[in-house]
Amino acid sequence: MIYLDNSATTRPFDSVIKAVSDNMADNFGNASSLHRMGVNAEKVLKEAKKTILGKLGADGDLYFTSGATESNNTALSGIPKAYKHNGKRIVSTSFEHPSVENPLKKLEEAGYEVVRVKPPKRDEPQDFEQRIASAVNADTLMVSVMWVNNETGFITDTAKLYAAVKRANPKTIVHVDAVQGFCKLPSKMLKADLISLSAHKIHGVKGMGALYCAKGVRFEPLLYGGGQQKNLRSGTEPIDLIAGFAEAVRSYPDCTEKYAALNERLVSKLSELPDIGINSYNNAKNILNFSVRGVRSEIMLHFLEEREIYVSSGSACSKGKTSGVLAEFGVSDRDADCAIRASFSPFTSEIDIDALIQGIEDGIKRFRR
Ligand code: PLP
Repeated sequence: MIYLDNSATTRPFDSVIKAVSDNMADNFGNASSLHRMGVNAEKVLKEAKKTILGKLGADGDLYFTSGATESNNTALSGIPKAYKHNGKRIVSTSFEHPSVENPLKKLEEAGYEVVRVKPPKRDEPQDFEQRIASAVNADTLMVSVMWVNNETGFITDTAKLYAAVKRANPKTIVHVDAVQGFCKLPSKMLKADLISLSAHKIHGVKGMGALYCAKGVRFEPLLYGGGQQKNLRSGTEPIDLIAGFAEAVRSYPDCTEKYAALNERLVSKLSELPDIGINSYNNAKNILNFSVRGVRSEIMLHFLEEREIYVSSGSACSKGKTSGVLAEFGVSDRDADCAIRASFSPFTSEIDIDALIQGIEDGIKRFRR
């Protein structure tokens, strides 16, 4: 099997499966219990926090959630509630994940003004961070942007953005959906008051994520219940999944050079095929979106699947629907209809890239009209 759909989800590392199952078997206590079993569970929780905060290079607090969808929803509902008097404008982008875009729509319905900044075109100067910051005014409650776009890999330097936003309005809270960049890009490009993370994009388990919150920043909880995690995320903590999340962070190797080399190989081999469009630019090297013109994405996807090569058509979240996000990056409807996303993991090899190219070449011969 050649799995090139790692932006959709990843195969859990063996070390993660072991950490999860060890904790399920031997450390199943409730972290709130006062006896030794509870204390042992709490120890794992504290260790996991330390590991993840260490990777973020940040010294705020971390709240475990059911995934980045919950983290994003918590941020976008919890900040407006906690900072009611800080303004009515929210600045974001026109290419956010639905777990940010849909809460933004709800905020608009509730009377907030949402400004969605468009990405720079491929040939334009890439001063995106400054352009976002220039939409921040005295009435801006919050900025919410993704670090790496899940469909094209487009990178926003959130450290640069954070500094520019705070210069424009020091009171504006910055939230970053860091799901696709975490462990893949250097942490020095990540700075925010709130950060959403997801374990299953880094070889952890699905249904596990976190929301980082910087010191001095507050938010209202999304869930009310037993008051776990300082009353900010009620619900018994899934120690096994949390242990797996921390293990994934510890196990994820530095793939900077590997991803750059794989990306270069894929782009160069694609350029030898007729009529291919590369849709990604300014992108994280583990993600490449391209169009095989004349062959619809779904046809190509299933043809590759027959060879046990797994890729995505646009975004896995959009279930085959033509992606509106690609249009934001200047991809024509015709090209979006033929878009394929390949996304790498530490397991990806050059042989996988060559098999993908062979598959695409054969697919073109068979289906291109
Ligand atoms: N944000 C981005 C950029 C994503 O790619 C995803 C997953 O597709 C999410 C948020 C949602 O993450 P989760 O599946 O953990 O809810």
